[in-house]
Amino acid sequence: MKKHNFSAGPCVLPREVIESSAHALLDFNNSGLSLIEISHRSKDFVEVMERARSLVKKIMKINDTYEVLFLQGGASLQFVMVPNNLLSKKSGWAAYLDTGTWASNAIKEAQRFGKVQIVASSRDKNYTYIPKSFSSLKEADYFHCTSNNTIYGTQMKVFPKLNLPLVCDMSSDIFSRNINFSDFDLIYAGAQKNMGPAGTTLVVVKKELLGKTERNIPNYLNYQLHIDKKSMLNTPSVFAVYTSMLTLEWIENKGGLSVIKQLNEEKAQILYEEIDRNPLLQGVVSLEDRSNMNATFILRRPELSCDFDQIWQEAGIVGLKGHRSVGGYRASMYNALSIESVRTLTETMKEFARRFT
Ligand SMILES: *Cc1c(COP(=O)(O)O)cnc(C)c1O
Repeated sequence: MKKHNFSAGPCVLPREVIESSAHALLDFNNSGLSLIEISHRSKDFVEVMERARSLVKKIMKINDTYEVLFLQGGASLQFVMVPNNLLSKKSGWAAYLDTGTWASNAIKEAQRFGKVQIVASSRDKNYTYIPKSFSSLKEADYFHCTSNNTIYGTQMKVFPKLNLPLVCDMSSDIFSRNINFSDFDLIYAGAQKNMGPAGTTLVVVKKELLGKTERNIPNYLNYQLHIDKKSMLNTPSVFAVYTSMLTLEWIENKGGLSVIKQLNEEKAQILYEEIDRNPLLQGVVSLEDRSNMNATFILRRPELSCDFDQIWQEAGIVGLKGHRSVGGYRASMYNALSIESVRTLTETMKEFARRFT
């Protein structure tokens, strides 16, 4: 039976990407060898890394003042690398926007390296909205935000225009819409939400930002060294980079981010319309901050959860339960999720309402 994968991450990837990467595991470029049994320094793999890096630039429409890296350690290691490289050791401080679990984790790591100020937080309402105004940011070394809050289902629709380096964790909505990436100074994203398998992390960094802290940065944490070594400072996660490259090609072939954005908006609209219409369902975040990637909702009659679960599970839907820290439900609609899957979900919601109202 066809599965409709609404998992939050790792998550659905385009079928053709999975098929091509499965083939490369058996026989990479007709070499008679598997992708994961060749040297990462071989010509064939260096080409993969370079193609992946240049596709990111092309799709994001960013120029050569930026460098693209495929690192390891997930977005979680970026919580450490960002302050290590950008927070000046002597008098500096960093401004952080607290919009939920991942943002809070980034804050905790940065606090190990220097002064951090939380310039706004939506913690007062259990992270169900995006704060729009901030306490004074002047003189901060950088401003850090999280574009999409995977667990709570909120998404930043506009980004503050500040006279500061803008750093953003885009792990769960990277390549989902055509924002102006040149407004950012450093973007990072774990691959496993919209780009590929777990194991690699995309970092896009403006070169002029680096080399200003007086810190003695450990080699692996030093962006400049990764740039100098063309993202091959140590053995990269070849399978994850290759699969990410295939997904980037898929995005290109679809027509780029403007097309992807439209599809994602259409999917989100279909789902939120049903959540708002359905007498048994209730959205949990403020309307203007709703995420197009992760839609969170609860049942108006929680005692019906077993009945609802049975209906969607029988339709082949998986991954609909909310994050263990917040409960409720969460439908993640990453790029590769089809409109058909969203319609299958809204049909089960309608069926649920028919049976229980
Ligand atoms: C999943 C997620 C993370 C954590 O990513 P890892 O790669 O597992 O470290 C960080 N930030 C956001 C917004 C996420 O969705």
